[in-house]
Amino acid sequence: MSNEARPASNFIRNIISEDLKNGKHKTTITRFPPEPNGYLHIGHAKSICLNHGISLDNPGAKFHLRFDDTNPEKEEVEYIDSIKEDVAWLGADWGDDLYHSSDYFDFIYDCAIHLIKDGKAFVCDLNAEETREYRGTLKAPGKDSPYRNRSVEDNIDLFEKMKNGEFKEGEKCLRAKIDMSSSNINMRDPVIYRIRFSSHPRIGEKWCIYPIYDFTHPLSDALEHITHSICTLEFEDHRPLYNWFIENCPVPSTPRQIEFARLNIDYTILSKRKLLQLVTENHVEGWDDPRMPTISGVRRRGYTPKSIRTFMERIGVTKKDTCIDMSNLESCVRDDLNEISLRSMAVLKPIKVIIENMEAEETIDLDCPIHPQKPELGRRSIVFSKTIYIDSDDFMLNPEPGFHRLGPGREVRLRYGFVIQCKNVVTDDNGNIIELHCHYLSETRGGKRPEDGRKVKGIIHWVSEDDKASAEIRIYDRLFKIENPNSDNFLEHINKDSLEIIETAFVHKDILGAKAFDHFQFERIGFFSVDPILSSDGAPVFNRTVTLRDAWTKSKK
Ligand code: ATP
Ligand code: MG
Repeated sequence: MSNEARPASNFIRNIISEDLKNGKHKTTITRFPPEPNGYLHIGHAKSICLNHGISLDNPGAKFHLRFDDTNPEKEEVEYIDSIKEDVAWLGADWGDDLYHSSDYFDFIYDCAIHLIKDGKAFVCDLNAEETREYRGTLKAPGKDSPYRNRSVEDNIDLFEKMKNGEFKEGEKCLRAKIDMSSSNINMRDPVIYRIRFSSHPRIGEKWCIYPIYDFTHPLSDALEHITHSICTLEFEDHRPLYNWFIENCPVPSTPRQIEFARLNIDYTILSKRKLLQLVTENHVEGWDDPRMPTISGVRRRGYTPKSIRTFMERIGVTKKDTCIDMSNLESCVRDDLNEISLRSMAVLKPIKVIIENMEAEETIDLDCPIHPQKPELGRRSIVFSKTIYIDSDDFMLNPEPGFHRLGPGREVRLRYGFVIQCKNVVTDDNGNIIELHCHYLSETRGGKRPEDGRKVKGIIHWVSEDDKASAEIRIYDRLFKIENPNSDNFLEHINKDSLEIIETAFVHKDILGAKAFDHFQFERIGFFSVDPILSSDGAPVFNRTVTLRDAWTKSKK
């Protein structure tokens, strides 16, 4: 991340600067604490960039990656692996600081015992439904559990038996003894341990009781000496509970929790649960489907880590919930791809063009820059020959006003080549275009005007018969049809036309050797990247990463 602009300050960085100035901490330890119950999405990237970015600010600062793996039923090794890959890809280096809450289960268990001995936790026999009834509502206080006043000895004994597997799931749980009349429902004697006879992906069957996330998370932070526990706003109401656990358990440090607004982006959803549903119900091709807002999806589509980091810097960190336009993210992607993508020409929906005033075997050598700002990369040879292909979008049988490209009797310039004139359109019985018969103007090479000096407005891309190679190109659109699909019926808003597969587009044969994730700009069309899964040696499949311009926002207006 070294050659990027220094991150702008934000309210969290200001708090941290104060804490360092006041000598509260010598340096910082921040962390990214995912639950391994799905793949990461762009929202998580905000948290990763923020927490890792802070660790770059101060000498001696550290960044931890910690899996908050307290829920054995929803967690899988596949998710753990994908999360590591995604965090590393974003450039957030955790060094040796990779942790798992499940490694702390002994410590967390000791904390529970500590609470019991202090009379601050009890084993409760209420079932789920009764617990809900006793909890009260936002308007009404809760009621004490009838088991709340068990003796310390009974609680120790029962908790031990829970641990030893002597009770069934749901038969008993351990609850903190806080305040059933608190206006904050999180403080109403929350459950901290429950019985689960499930195998944990990392530690197997060692435990049949599992600490609840709300208990595990603050204790894990404290055990790791996290100085600033940065989380999203929905945890604001949990802060008093987390502080209560920290104050009442034998922890080695006191993290400071700071909340910020989560990232929302229009036309997509950033919720693991909903993304999981898209995958399991086959609405997309997988977690890494290039239409998905997952890190693996956007990576496969051709987004770069730098573009995501730039985006996070641009949108900043605040306490106010907002929804960001997808076009902001795309603009960052475009900026980076413009720098790094090699140029080439490709024709998505070819129309054959016969250059009538050329001999069958005649060819003319031309070339184009591989990158306009990087002359050191040299030039790509292109061959002009009697048969070439142009995109069907660049031809109209009955051109509308304002259309400056090819039509019957019209002329247009071929990029890096000649001006051609359309003399004749060959159609089949149904009026479908079979081929165009054109003449080229030999004096117009190198951008020169025709002999009489007239201006030719349109410039189009093309590929010649000699250069062409077929390749599959995939065009993606927004995954949802509406701006805010974040409702329970989000499936109804899926854009069924979000994937267009063009099986035989024509690309320049030079780029058939492209490797997975290589970036190209197909001139006038967009930025494309080689799909890592669908491609094979010598047969790349290209994903359209992003269009050249923000046509979307324009058409919306
Ligand atoms: P989801 O809501 O998608 O299920 P989560 O919050 O349950 O996500 P976690 O694995 O618990 O997922 O998240 C790890 C970290 O990422 C947490 O600190 C969480 O606050 C943060 N995070 C999750 N979603 C966003 C988001 N949209 N914007 C910013 N940070 C996020
Ligand atoms: Mg969460």
